[in-house]
Amino acid sequence: MISTTLSPGSATGPATSLPLLDLDLIRRYAIPGPRYTSYPAATQFTPAFDSTAAEAAILADNHDAAAGPISLYVHLPFCESLCWYCGCNNFITRNRESADAYISDLEREIIITVAKLDRSRPVEQLHFGGGTPTFLTADQLRRLAKIIRTHFTFTANAEISVEIDPRQLTQVQVDALAEFGINRASLGVQDTNPEVQAAIHRVQPHSLNVAAAKMLRAAGVTSVNLDLIYGLPLQTLASLGRTIEDVLALRPERLSLFSYAHVPWLKPAQRIFEDRHQLPTSEQKLELFALARERLLEAGYVDIGLDHFARPDDELALAQKAGTLHRNFQGYSTRAGASLYAFGVSSISSTANTYRQNVKTLEEYRSALDAGHLPIERGLTLTTEDLRRRTLVMRLMCDRRLDFAALERDTGIDVSADYARELASLSDLVADGIVELDEEGLRVTALGAPLLRVVAMRFDEHFSPAATGKRHAMSV
Ligand code: SF4
Repeated sequence: MISTTLSPGSATGPATSLPLLDLDLIRRYAIPGPRYTSYPAATQFTPAFDSTAAEAAILADNHDAAAGPISLYVHLPFCESLCWYCGCNNFITRNRESADAYISDLEREIIITVAKLDRSRPVEQLHFGGGTPTFLTADQLRRLAKIIRTHFTFTANAEISVEIDPRQLTQVQVDALAEFGINRASLGVQDTNPEVQAAIHRVQPHSLNVAAAKMLRAAGVTSVNLDLIYGLPLQTLASLGRTIEDVLALRPERLSLFSYAHVPWLKPAQRIFEDRHQLPTSEQKLELFALARERLLEAGYVDIGLDHFARPDDELALAQKAGTLHRNFQGYSTRAGASLYAFGVSSISSTANTYRQNVKTLEEYRSALDAGHLPIERGLTLTTEDLRRRTLVMRLMCDRRLDFAALERDTGIDVSADYARELASLSDLVADGIVELDEEGLRVTALGAPLLRVVAMRFDEHFSPAATGKRHAMSV
């Protein structure tokens, strides 16, 4: 096993001692694949699932969930300028009035939805994502908050979170968000090095991150997440090491460490990194990952799974320990199985056995609403087999293990008998110490943790490595 810790200052520096990270294994096993925020992955959704199917799904969900709580997601797609690495669905504009019309569209979508939805169902979670939610002015944020409060009732301890761009956060926006009751915030930092920031077209002095975190905490935000990206142009071990020092000084409750996804066939702006020869090699990118992961673990953060780290006293770390972690389109969550009602372009909703995604352009979105129906582009009704496999994939992604007896008792799934072929397919992962398998269950080892998705892929009936090379990002 190659154990490695890399010293800042050297792009290919000598390996010393980080236990439980084997770069050679990662080189051999990391392949493009789904992130399993859903199972089946969104690439399996089809246009056959239309607005009529969506309305039927909402009605069925009222019945299935028997007034159970719901989660909300609101997609706010506007950004003032394009960060060249960006893979999000967004619209670049400086015209704040674009958001006025969009808020009216969101209201129309909400009204069509709540006409079918059991209104007695409380909201236990709301997330504003983007794009840049803080593109909205304070008045626009207040207007949107009022629309949401008019149509939904929140539980007393509902989680209300928002993605923040520290470059454009003002005190008046924070005041408006605080009035609405936000208690969680996720700040896009990415990298604090000025050269990297210039290369990615996102100039963001670290003082802005410090100021944003301070304003949010003073406004009552009790959980701050910071997003970082490794594998960016001009990033070195030294620069990333410094970025991590900077962000750790803010004492975030959670950190996300995303792998830069280079997909220029989907996001042409990324070609500039190739033209300027600024991207780290895949080998250097792995070393950046190793360094970042080591620094976060050394600082006491717990590896929750995939790209997520949390302080040991954070709810996510406690839920992981207790085996009560869940995974949805926003990543890991402590809230179990609430149906997700998502609004806005490209957003994805889910009920117990369906997924549905909205259209991606503003024109299509508006014209569906003008016609009085939900702006659905595609979706999926899960088969019984999909539901069974989803249980296995999600337990692996959250618990890193399958407890065969517990699964049979709780879900009726006899993993050893029903998934013997999948278990047999793990022999290479067993031989390399990525998983342990015996009659009691399957466990992903600490060594295998960075390859969690690769283990889950073995239970994914729809996954085909040959077909997905250009549809998914690398698993590390
Ligand atoms: S602010 Fe966020 S969503 Fe907007 S372009 Fe930059 S990375 Fe993409």
